[in-house]
Amino acid sequence: MRIAVVGGGILGLATARQLAGSGHRVTVLEKEPALGRHQTGRNSGVVHAGLYYPAGSLKARLCTRGVGLLRAYCADRDLPYEECGKVVVAVEAREEAGLRTLEERGHANGVAGLRMLDAAQLRRIEPHADGRLALHSPRTAICDFTAVAAAYADDVRAADGEVRTGVTVSGVDASNGEALVRHGGGADAFDRVVVCAGLYSDRLAHASGGPRYPTIVPFRGDYLALRPQARDLVKGLIYPVPDPRYPFLGVHLTRTVHGGVLVGPNAVLAFAREGYRLRDVRPSELAATLTDPGFLRLARRHWRTGADEVWRAMSRRRFVAAARRYVPELRPGDVVRAPAGVRAQAVDRDGSMVEDFRIERNGRVVQVRNAPSPAATSSLAIAEVIVERVLADG
Ligand SMILES: Cc1cc2nc3c(=O)[nH]c(=O)nc-3n(C[C@H](O)[C@H](O)[C@H](O)COP(=O)(O)OP(=O)(O)OC[C@H]3O[C@@H](n4cnc5c(N)ncnc54)[C@H](O)[C@@H]3O)c2cc1C
Repeated sequence: MRIAVVGGGILGLATARQLAGSGHRVTVLEKEPALGRHQTGRNSGVVHAGLYYPAGSLKARLCTRGVGLLRAYCADRDLPYEECGKVVVAVEAREEAGLRTLEERGHANGVAGLRMLDAAQLRRIEPHADGRLALHSPRTAICDFTAVAAAYADDVRAADGEVRTGVTVSGVDASNGEALVRHGGGADAFDRVVVCAGLYSDRLAHASGGPRYPTIVPFRGDYLALRPQARDLVKGLIYPVPDPRYPFLGVHLTRTVHGGVLVGPNAVLAFAREGYRLRDVRPSELAATLTDPGFLRLARRHWRTGADEVWRAMSRRRFVAAARRYVPELRPGDVVRAPAGVRAQAVDRDGSMVEDFRIERNGRVVQVRNAPSPAATSSLAIAEVIVERVLADG
């Protein structure tokens, strides 16, 4: 079959790789001049073990399968992959119940090596972390998702697939016996199309005959980086207990495979879908978000947390204070600004944030409508599900 994959992020490339590897004629269409420029190249680089996701969810199933596939892939392709381990730290007594829930979920999802630590045991693993109780996940790892995505693209090319950059797709017309992909340079016909357009997935889904909802709300995640002299404060990955009302994990400290340590990300409404700085504003995109009934319901429910996040984003001292709760020696002078990311979070018309991965098929077109974290970790497993739907009859 002739198959187009729209989006050259880690999901589009993982899917294209698998399709090309099984003999299909695959063309990847990416609007940027290079691959992996958005979520794939702007994240924490953490290979999640599967602690957070309710048993039975796609996230739980595809994360745990995805970790095994990714570990083997990185070993095979000689890509960096370090099992540096992670602790989730409860600082206050009221956070302990949340930590127990993560422990239960982790066990239900088959996460290896999980162990509860008291304050002294925590110090033996992370000497500068302070908490009452911590959950240790020794197999949680770090990798370089941009390098992984680039390796997937090499696999596509090696299997005679085509990767075209600088091609912006405006929609797919699948009403006449084939799927016509419209783009800046004209239109091309395919038998099937997969859309993995991240921050623009809702726009493209709607322009390709899919339903309007869920829409994407872009949540910027700012990062700071530790100066070299402060990097010893962190051995692996140190996370807070997440607020169960949100799909975000809270400001954490993460070692990277390139030797740095990141602090972040927070979660604030971005004023442009690809708005990586506070001053990046796209009035048409912002207006569309601010008048979207789903977003308005979400904002009405969570305005207080949203305002707190904006307040914290405006001051380095307040940002660092979030991480100082569990690494008290950290000082505002220990950090410098680092590049931000923007999460594509799908929101339904009723204002609820879509929790799980969402993949829909609409005739000849398969649309990824929600693929936030841990989608990079799960990319090879998500690709299996997408490919199954693409190749199913109908
Ligand atoms: C701040 C942050 C931290 C995160 N941390 C982690 C983590 O530690 N671990 C983890 O597993 N996950 C993490 N994630 C999530 C992970 O990065 C994403 O789930 C994953 O990268 C999604 O990949 P994607 O291919 O769907 O999207 P993207 O990487 O955003 O790719 C979509 C591509 O589609 C292209 N595109 C869009 N519109 C068009 C169009 N019209 N025509 C052609 N091309 C188009 C874009 O240019 C882009 O290249 C994080 C995300 C963020 C933002």
